[in-house]
Amino acid sequence: MRYRALKFGGTSVGSPEMIRRVVEIVQSCPAELQPVTVVSAFKGVTNGLIAAAEAAVAEKSNFLDHYQALEDQHLSVVTELIPAKQRARVLAITQGTLSELLDVLQALSKLRELSAKSLDRIMSFGERLSAYIIAETVNHSPGNLIGRYLDARDFIRTDSNFGNATVQVEETYRNLKSKVDEVCQDVKPSFRVLPIITGFIAEDGNGATTTLGRGGSDYTGALVAAALDAEKLEIWTDVDGVLTADPRKVKKVFTIPQISYEEALELSHFGAKVVYGPTMRPVLAKGISIRICNTFNPDAAGTIIGREPSPPQFPVTGLSSIDSVTLLRVQGSGLMGVAGVASRVFGALGRERINVLLITQASSEHTICCAVLPHESSKALAALEAEFRLEQDAGMVDPIIVEPQLSVISIVGANMCRSPGIAAKFFTALGRNGVNIVAIAQGSSELNISAVIDKSYEAKALAAVHDEFFQISTTQSLNLFVVGTGLIGGTLLKQLDAHTPKLREHYHLELNLLGVANSKKVLLDREGISFRNALELLDSQGEESELSEFVDSVVALNVANSVFVDCTANESITDSYQGILAAHISIVTPNKKAHSGAMEKYQAIMQTAAQSGVRFLYETSVGAGLPVISTLSDLLRSGDQVLKIEAVLSGTLSYIFNHMSETRPFSAVVRTAKELGFTEPDPRDDLAGIDVARKLLILAREAGYSIEMGDISVESLVPTDCRSASSGEDFLKMLASHDAAREIERARTVKQGKRLCYIATFNAENRDATVRLEAIDAVHPFFALSGSDNIIAFTTLRYRECPLVIKGPGAGAEVTAAGVLSDIVRIGQVIRQK
Ligand code: ADP
Ligand code: ASP
Ligand code: MG
Repeated sequence: MRYRALKFGGTSVGSPEMIRRVVEIVQSCPAELQPVTVVSAFKGVTNGLIAAAEAAVAEKSNFLDHYQALEDQHLSVVTELIPAKQRARVLAITQGTLSELLDVLQALSKLRELSAKSLDRIMSFGERLSAYIIAETVNHSPGNLIGRYLDARDFIRTDSNFGNATVQVEETYRNLKSKVDEVCQDVKPSFRVLPIITGFIAEDGNGATTTLGRGGSDYTGALVAAALDAEKLEIWTDVDGVLTADPRKVKKVFTIPQISYEEALELSHFGAKVVYGPTMRPVLAKGISIRICNTFNPDAAGTIIGREPSPPQFPVTGLSSIDSVTLLRVQGSGLMGVAGVASRVFGALGRERINVLLITQASSEHTICCAVLPHESSKALAALEAEFRLEQDAGMVDPIIVEPQLSVISIVGANMCRSPGIAAKFFTALGRNGVNIVAIAQGSSELNISAVIDKSYEAKALAAVHDEFFQISTTQSLNLFVVGTGLIGGTLLKQLDAHTPKLREHYHLELNLLGVANSKKVLLDREGISFRNALELLDSQGEESELSEFVDSVVALNVANSVFVDCTANESITDSYQGILAAHISIVTPNKKAHSGAMEKYQAIMQTAAQSGVRFLYETSVGAGLPVISTLSDLLRSGDQVLKIEAVLSGTLSYIFNHMSETRPFSAVVRTAKELGFTEPDPRDDLAGIDVARKLLILAREAGYSIEMGDISVESLVPTDCRSASSGEDFLKMLASHDAAREIERARTVKQGKRLCYIATFNAENRDATVRLEAIDAVHPFFALSGSDNIIAFTTLRYRECPLVIKGPGAGAEVTAAGVLSDIVRIGQVIRQK
């Protein structure tokens, strides 16, 4: 009968409930196959044992607390799983093993020294206890399985490299096969024996306990499968297979259905914990495939690891990362052109059994970098210094540089070598998100490309790279930070709430709100805030804080594909724009203050955005939701040139002049406009024309001209004597004294067949920019303007005879918020296309 090897990880044996599931899974193994199981220690136990051992040898020893927790955990599992009748015996045996553990810990606490050898002995208790308890559970479960506990130390033979021993394969296979064959044949009719083998642990030639490296139970599973020529090795864990990235670090991962041994090895070498790297060796040699399955979702197909590479749907199969590495840099003129330097680096570190995660050589051959795990860095440094001592003494090699606090992120895939431009895509995704690359390495197998980056950027880098390579099946996400919750901000949140499902479906765009703030409170949540409840949450859970602190927190959060949405009219916040853009966060805003200030500030902001590869979009700062700025930039991009801009840019002033009549004097219309909410709280802010001048300034700059506010001549509609009025109300009263004069002007204009219109004009030829009240006749394109509409006419080289006119509502929360939303969508699309 053929064997099937099943390995259950600590994540699958964390609680009595889980152990029951494990038993069910084994029971459902097809009748024609003989199952053999390998189990890990219960969840968290290996770490608990290490902590207990470390505590035992520490000055202030509280190892008994650690021990007690481990004892409680195991005894309570026994109590829960083993029926009362048999419980006393199983408890006694378990207690016996635990007492042995306590003895070793007590001995250690006297010795005050923890060798790798003692630690292996201590760690072995985890697997010994779990395998025994699970075997007894099987024995006392309904069904025809008889659980047989097998201690792998009886048949897995290794060298004495404690902590990470090397297996003597042939002897192990021989022992293992004869032991399992023997156990499985010793069976009563209609029963089936189920060997339950301790993972992770083994024994050297002297009878000392060794371990196979952290995560080594997978490897035990592979040894068992190979020794028995098993039909398959199933590794049961807590995820649906090998995923495109670590699900704890990246949100939108999905299962890779099939992957080659080499790809799996590469992923695990670079940090994917789901399967331990050495596992692949024994099964690869025998062509036995591995299936990674989910104990919590046994029906899922999982991932098959075998000879076939992953299907070529994506050029990259998966990504992985090692969150903490130290880089050692060997450099100096003496390295140039000298053969064999890299192999000397490898050799020196290899002799010390230091695991070199990655090695890179600059093309100048001046520098060699290698990444090691932080706890091995001082040993590695000593080894390299010894290796290059002579060269250092001769001044040919500089002192070795140690760079801690770094991470490695890698893309892995067999299809990579056939698709050009993968590396460029990888580095562009990192660059666009401001991730600085310290070193780059391409594995000689061409199965991976790795980048060493600053540790604090790991999560951001993974998210950005994952989006970059897997966005066909996933959507592009944008992370929004909205500041300003007044009329526009509030309306925007409502629109976002209503439109996100459509954006997801039609534009493959997933918008997340990670932060919201107003002048009183701020709320940040990396996990996301609901658009619908954002305002209430801000009110109930937000912290009182300054807007500038909000900006600092957004930058510090450092998430990929961030967009800062400024819905305020606040000037001081625009001082933060450059810092935000420099942190690779795009900005969308209807706020005019940043780009209508000094030309120098405008240019600096634009330059920062360009350098950071992010967008600064402010379509709604002129003409609200009307496509004014995008039209202008389309014209320029297609080679056109703006000759003249003429525009009515204030909905408020349009309303006022369109509603004045014999019976409705100027001040009365201004009052109504104020009451309707069309004006600023103090109507002088509209009538002074500054706002219109700012918009004209933005348009002229957008058309490529360098102009300042001071270059615009502005006719203020606030009479000189009214400027000193103490309030808006006071002003309206004083304004009434000018009604007669305004009416005379209006009546005269009407008599001439004309009408009054507050027009902003920029003439490119003489750089003349004016904002003033003009009387226009019936042939003027602005004559028919009604209500509070805006109108913008561009005369360009192409539109010379008949200007290009954009007309429509130029104010209002709905249209403005919609314009802001469309700028946000535009950013999502730009990122998708990159
Ligand atoms: P077990 O105890 O079953 O051996 P591990 O904790 O050793 O489980 O490994 C499974 C875990 O590996 C998953 O819970 C997941 O968080 C992590 N992991 C890291 N990278 C990946 C990846 N690419 N695919 C799947 N899981 C991954
Ligand atoms: N229990 C061991 C560890 O935690 C081995 C394993 O789970 O694979 O490393
Ligand atoms: Mg594991």
